[in-house]
Amino acid sequence: MSRFRFNHSRGSRNFLIGGVAIIVLAFGAAQPLTAQYFGKNKVQWTSLNWHATVTEHFIVNHDEQMHAAAQRTTQLLERCYARFSSILDTKFKKPIPVFIWQTHDLFQENWIVGDLISEGTGGITETLGGFRRMILPLDVTTEETEHVLCHELVHEFQAEIFLESVERGSSPRQIGNELSRALWFVEGMAEYLSKGSVDPRTHTVMRDGLEVGYLRSIEKMSKTPDYLSAYRFGEALLWYIGNRYGDAGIGALLKRSTEVGVFRSFAWANIDPDSLSAEWQAFVDSTYRPQIEAFIHPNEATGVRRVTNHEFADPHKGQIPVTFNGPALSPNGKHIVYISDKSSTLSGTDNFWLASTDSADAIKKIVETGRSAGTEAARQLTSVGAFSFDGTRFVYAVQSKGRRAVRIYSFAESKDEAFSIEDEVLRESLFGIENPRFSPDGTQIVFTGVKEGQRDLYVATIDSARGLLTEN
Ligand SMILES: [Zn+2]
Repeated sequence: MSRFRFNHSRGSRNFLIGGVAIIVLAFGAAQPLTAQYFGKNKVQWTSLNWHATVTEHFIVNHDEQMHAAAQRTTQLLERCYARFSSILDTKFKKPIPVFIWQTHDLFQENWIVGDLISEGTGGITETLGGFRRMILPLDVTTEETEHVLCHELVHEFQAEIFLESVERGSSPRQIGNELSRALWFVEGMAEYLSKGSVDPRTHTVMRDGLEVGYLRSIEKMSKTPDYLSAYRFGEALLWYIGNRYGDAGIGALLKRSTEVGVFRSFAWANIDPDSLSAEWQAFVDSTYRPQIEAFIHPNEATGVRRVTNHEFADPHKGQIPVTFNGPALSPNGKHIVYISDKSSTLSGTDNFWLASTDSADAIKKIVETGRSAGTEAARQLTSVGAFSFDGTRFVYAVQSKGRRAVRIYSFAESKDEAFSIEDEVLRESLFGIENPRFSPDGTQIVFTGVKEGQRDLYVATIDSARGLLTEN
């Protein structure tokens, strides 16, 4: 019995916190689907009515509200299937179950994956013996949804090819261990093939890595299988390999790697990894160096300065970088509120901090998350809060009882005001609330929300007498 798990990571920090559990191989008895945790349990807040949309290669399982989204999902999947099936020269023997959710909150609380899922996990591909499944939320942009669907689909092809090779007698433990170290190969392939190119984020990391000096050779990427090696450097390298040897060459390397391991598959193709590494680095230098020279850097002369200190973390020492996200500037320009995991007493939790724009040091922590079912988590990757126009209040989105809620913090009282968007009518019908903003007179709030798998704008009136928001 073998079990694979691919977690698609949306960011470096969550990748590290989530652990490098990209491929888990277990032998002997099947792993229980529901894992046990100390101190943390996954709570399911919402019950859904499941339907299935079936195509030639997929069985897409979804909530009854999501028929249109499920149709789009099957079209995207079948389109990527046709492309990957040709590049990787492989066909599925039977349709793959796919589970989709309207929002990331619902995905995080799902009962299919026993493990706790972080905000940074974009999707999961899992193989347990005869069971195969892809599990993912759809509350991001269409472009990102297509990317995550197709990224996970590449992992399904990798699993299919791996299982075929095991059936032919390959040693699953040995090959599985090697594949799980060569994450730049496994994840880089999923990133490159799902996009068909290199995305702007990866270009940015490559330029920064070249300038600051943290680019890695293929050997170093194998020794440090973290987010950078797996996703960004991996994508850039697989794009280079695809251009040099053709995408079908990647398919041939993958098939061979499930028989003999990644490095020996390169030897089989008469590619010396050290020479390839040197050629690739020379290419990176000649591509990005001229761009770096044309850059304007943040400094006093350009009027741009850094106000927080990210405290460089060394991945070789297992250090996790502190992150700063979701900034909001006060109307008078003297204060900022940001979301950060710095000084967190609970690992992996983000808090809202108030700071002066003159100094890196926070004045105080205004909202602490992760301690109650009312404020489980900030949405640091997708939502930004805002000051009221008079600067006396701060409106923000938080995960509350498994759903997104809007809260208002009052600086005068140093606490949340008497209300939050927890009205049951709204909570039952509206998901994924993000990016709230005050009206100039402070009586209304606009925010984005998801209903029937579609993102819309919503305006709510603040009725502080009743302590509720009502939908306009
Ligand atoms: Zn992946």
